[in-house]
Amino acid sequence: MTVEPVDPAVFSTSSNALVTQFLTPALFERLSCLKTASGFTLAGAVRSGQQNPDSSIGIYAGDAQSYSLFKEIFDPVIRTYHELTGEIRHVSDFKKGSHQGSGRMDRLQTELADLPDLDPARQYILSSRVRVARSLADFAFTPNIRAKDRQNAAHQIQQALATLPAPLQGQYFPMDRLTPEQIITQAAAGTAFPPGDRFQAAAGITRGFPNARGVYACPGGRFSVWVHEEDHLRIICLENTGSLSSVFNRLALALDHLTQTLAFAWDPCMGFLNACPSNIGTAMRAGVHIRLPNLDQRPDLLRQLVRDHGLQIRGTAGEKTAVSGAVFDISNKKRLGIGEIQLIRSLHTGIAAIIETEKNLSPPGPGCPGP
Ligand code: ADP
Ligand code: MG
Repeated sequence: MTVEPVDPAVFSTSSNALVTQFLTPALFERLSCLKTASGFTLAGAVRSGQQNPDSSIGIYAGDAQSYSLFKEIFDPVIRTYHELTGEIRHVSDFKKGSHQGSGRMDRLQTELADLPDLDPARQYILSSRVRVARSLADFAFTPNIRAKDRQNAAHQIQQALATLPAPLQGQYFPMDRLTPEQIITQAAAGTAFPPGDRFQAAAGITRGFPNARGVYACPGGRFSVWVHEEDHLRIICLENTGSLSSVFNRLALALDHLTQTLAFAWDPCMGFLNACPSNIGTAMRAGVHIRLPNLDQRPDLLRQLVRDHGLQIRGTAGEKTAVSGAVFDISNKKRLGIGEIQLIRSLHTGIAAIIETEKNLSPPGPGCPGP
């Protein structure tokens, strides 16, 4: 396969991606001759960002080694995205100094016991979701994995999932032979995921879709695992309530088991490593789907609240989609340098403040009459 050279001048002038702030022509030239053991190059890493000027980050890792080999470009991107001022330092509330098993379930559960349901009357929050991204240590990441390895990785993951304890037991739904129509229907039912967007396609993540893809789902949909979506695993807990502690505790239980059966890509400074540098460290995104008709009319105020609490907004159907029916996906932005418990606590504080503001705003009226 011939790899098209990336012209850093074109890349940096046509794009607002974070990577363009740091990828000078000199740095590009210096790193361009390097190749990881799985054959990943800087040209491959920035291809999606280059082809999609509206990328927010613009660089992907093709394997764990990308983060060290291309450190000169990944480190400033990581520092900026996760708002780290000094050294890059992964913090976790799971077992200290180790990525093998949490061993701290009891403490984690009691630490969040005081967090009340954010919306017991179910006026605003439609659902709460906490997910982590994980990649297997022994395989290239999704942008650079080979078809055979993708199958082997999916097989290992299925074996590990089959050993989960009773509250997390579910069924694996392979996507290999699904038609595009079946994928849409099953995605709505939580037993498949959509084909991925143009950002993922240009990064090489969606190659061969839907081969070796699949979803492990518990009855009721409160626990699921997406296999070979943007990362090898997306481990997801979801509830139609505002109870972040309940959702997080189920995720902690799943991680406790899966870290004992699977070896994840991990680094002492950068934490869990995955394809996108925004998804490293805890690699955790905790958020709610929340209906905010009043704040929908006050976008500046909502943006300010979100910024003040270190959160981010996504559209109703996920990243880079539109907000429909005033239903926002609001979640933590940073995933590295803060422990999981703190991430949940600051999300809780931020969402409580947003609900309070929403309540205090008068309902959207018919608007001012024109002059
Ligand atoms: P991530 O990359 O964190 O998995 P995405 O933005 O790619 O998240 O969205 C993946 C899917 O998860 C989308 O279908 C989105 O609508 C859904 N989703 C995200 N947050 C929630 C939530 N709080 N409740 C229900 N669905 C959610
Ligand atoms: Mg996603």
